[in-house]
Formats: sequence, structure tokens, C-alpha cells
Amino acid sequence: MSVPPTGHRPQPPSVDRVLNWSTITALAEAHGRPLVLEAVRDTLSRCRQGDIPCDAPTIATAVDDAVRAVLAPSLQPVFNLTGTVLHTNLGRAPLPPEAIAAMTQAASGASNLEYDLRHGRRGDRDAHVEGWLCRLTGAEAATVVNNNAAAVLLALNSLALRRRVLVSRGELIEIGGSFRLPDIMRRAGCRLHEVGTTNRTHLRDFADAMGDANPALVLKAHTSNYQVQGFTAEADEGGLARLCHEHDIPFLVDLGSGTLTDLRRFGLPAEPTPADALAHGVDLVTFSGDKLLGGPQAGIIVGRADLVARIRRNPMKRALRCDKVTLAALEAVLRLYADPDRLAERVPTLRLLSRAADSIADQAQRLQPIVADWLGNEGRVDVVPVHSQIGSGSLPVDLLPSHALRLQPAGGRNPGRSARAIAERLRQLPMPVIGRIANGAVLLDMRCLEDEDRFRAQFMELSRP
Ligand SMILES: *Cc1c(COP(=O)(O)O)cnc(C)c1O
Repeated sequence: MSVPPTGHRPQPPSVDRVLNWSTITALAEAHGRPLVLEAVRDTLSRCRQGDIPCDAPTIATAVDDAVRAVLAPSLQPVFNLTGTVLHTNLGRAPLPPEAIAAMTQAASGASNLEYDLRHGRRGDRDAHVEGWLCRLTGAEAATVVNNNAAAVLLALNSLALRRRVLVSRGELIEIGGSFRLPDIMRRAGCRLHEVGTTNRTHLRDFADAMGDANPALVLKAHTSNYQVQGFTAEADEGGLARLCHEHDIPFLVDLGSGTLTDLRRFGLPAEPTPADALAHGVDLVTFSGDKLLGGPQAGIIVGRADLVARIRRNPMKRALRCDKVTLAALEAVLRLYADPDRLAERVPTLRLLSRAADSIADQAQRLQPIVADWLGNEGRVDVVPVHSQIGSGSLPVDLLPSHALRLQPAGGRNPGRSARAIAERLRQLPMPVIGRIANGAVLLDMRCLEDEDRFRAQFMELSRP
């Protein structure tokens, strides 16, 4: 018989014994035995290491917490109060209800995704959106892939494999760290041929390179997240298109954030559209589905039918294609563009971008006392004018007047650290609130707060004594 070691912590029960406790059996019935077994083993090993006490109630609670932690959804909704409307890390464009309904339907059962109902034979998944894309951009043909990075990669690989591609030195862009044009070019199997200088590239630089480099393609990238200012020059799109046609070389423009409408109708600064580019004689344009268009993540290629056909024949198209749920959402969003007068109310991205500064200020005033109650004596909350950004590389220097709640930490020697502590508390809320830190305070830009009731309810719930 072994003597229980005196003065030591009690030995934890066996795994089998814990699994037989009624609370734990109930947990296994609700959530499945494997998860609960894993949680029991982990919990008992924490007991043995002395991390938690070994009594039955503590173990039962720890197992329950562990199971719940594993089951909690990883992808969860947050309030985007960063002031960046199209925030890549927060999922970019919110979708309209029409798109969500179409996605649910496409996801729920079989559809004619690649089936031609008229002739009863295999069809093309692009067919569901190509008509709309052509109507809205004036293109002859269109195809869609997973995202715009994929669209650029596929277009380069289809039209210029092992050949040279001319790009202005001022446009060798990096977007969000992982999309760098020279890298994409290499991975697409193309040879980058730089033209001009960082600040100035002229049409004659391209004309000279046409003769020397024997290029397969000319690429122009919309410098969407920065501006070159001062002594600058770029070859104009129309002139470059004519030059390309004289030499029978396709001209591709990567527009990034292609808007399908004139943003000036919403009081926003003008942004080049795919329709403008095609009207200038550009052969192919690529742009994102989830930037200013306000749709799902997708990369859209529009332009000349013969070039789009070459892209479709590339086996890489199969690897980069988008799924039925995305196509359903994209079709639904494109349909909303049929009525340009109602876009600002129906496409959430455009609705948020066109929100009037005073309506944002009113909302901030309404919520100020509620957030101030929640913050208590940790700091003060004021309504302050700020500027929002469009984000995702759209309209880099144009800022939209907006209003924010400024959560200013009370005193303390390190206001930066206190602001970070407030930001962390906001991130730990049931529906995390993501703001930004500026000058030792947390700013919550109200531009993107549409579900005011949910925001209010969460803060009132938590400030209740
Ligand atoms: C955003 C952007 C991309 C990348 O698009 P994704 O849809 O994020 O893949 C490429 N080029 C430009 C000019 C962009 O602005």
C-alpha cells in the first residue's frame, strides 16, 4: 500500500473518473467525446503541474472552460471604427443583403454554376457575371478569379510567359506588403523591363523600349496607395494605348480599386474607372471586387475578347477561379449598379463613404455618454473631428471628414501605454471594437458604425453596476 505523500498537493483523479462525473458526461453529450477527453487530459496535466488546484469543482470548471474556448468561433464580427472604410485586415467591403441572400442560396444546394440550362450541356462560371461586367464597363469580355493579385498574375502569365513586360519605374508598386509587382512578375514567369525613371517616365521612353526590348505586354499599375509629387511626368494612358496598338502589343492596366460608377456623385473625389481606361484604348483592365466596387473578394479582368479568351485557356485560370458563393454575391452586387441613383443607399461601401459628416457627429454625440460611463474614471470621452480614409489603396491622399469618440486615458505617466490598455479592453468586448491610437488616446471613428443599437447595448450591458 502506498503512503500518501504528506504535505504535498492532493493527487488529481484519473481521466476515467473525471469522464464519469455527471457534469462532464453532460458536456460530452453536448459537444462530443473527443473534445471533452482532450480537455480533461489537459486540465489534469495542469493539476499535476500545480497550475490549478486539484479539487473536483475547479477541475469541472476548467474542463468546461477549455471545451468552450475550443468551440468559440475564431472568425467573429467586430466593429470597424478604425476610420478606414475598406480595411483589408477587417475584411474590406460589407455586402448588401441582396448579395447575402444570393450567397446563402448558392451555398445551400445545386445550381447552374457551370451548366448551360438552355442547351443542357457544360457551361462557363463566368457567364453569370460577364454580361453585367461588359454592360458596366463597355468591355467586349470579362473573366473573374480569386482576387486582383490573382488577376494580375494570370494576365501576365497568359500574355507574356518568358517574355518582357514594360513597366514605368514609378509604378513598381507594393500593396499591403505581400503584393509587390516585381515579385508577381517573376512568379508569373515574365521578365520585367523598367522604363523611365522613378519620378518621370515619358511616352518616348516606352517608344524606345518597344524597339529594343521586343516586349509581349505593357503594364500600367494604378499607384493607388501613394502619390509621386514634384517634378514628375507619366505617359498618358491614351498615348500609351496608341503606341501599343502601333506595335501590336497588348496594354494591361492594373487599376486596383476599380469603381464602376462616378464617385463624384457621392461627393467623393474622382477615381479612374475601368470604363475610362477601356475608352482610352487600354486592352485589358484588372481590379478588385471588394474595394470600391463594394462586392465580394474577387479579381476582375475586363477588355478585348481575344485576350480574355487566351486568359481563360490558361490552366492557371482553373487554379485561381472563384467559387459559386463569390460569383453569386458578385452577380447580386453588379445588378445593383443597374440603378446608379440608388447605389449610395444600397451598396454598403458607398453608403459608408458618402455618409454626411454631421450625421456622424450626431451619432458620436448620442454615444458619448454611454462610452464615457463604460470607461468610468479610467479616462474621459470627447467627440472630436477626424478624417476617415477609404483604404485598400483607394484615393491615397483624399480624406473624408468624420467624427470620432476620443478616449483619453486619465493622467498617468505613460499615456501611450494607458491608451493601449483601453484599446485592449475594447478588443476584448463580446463584439470587439477596433479603433486606432493617436497622440496617446484611442479614436473610435463613427463613420462605419451602422449597427448603433448593438454597439449601445453592449456598452450599456457592461456599465451596469
Ligand atoms: C489592391 C490592389 C491589388 C491587389 O488586389 P487584391 O484584390 O487585394 O488581390 C493589386 N494592384 C493594385 C493597384 C491594388 O490597388
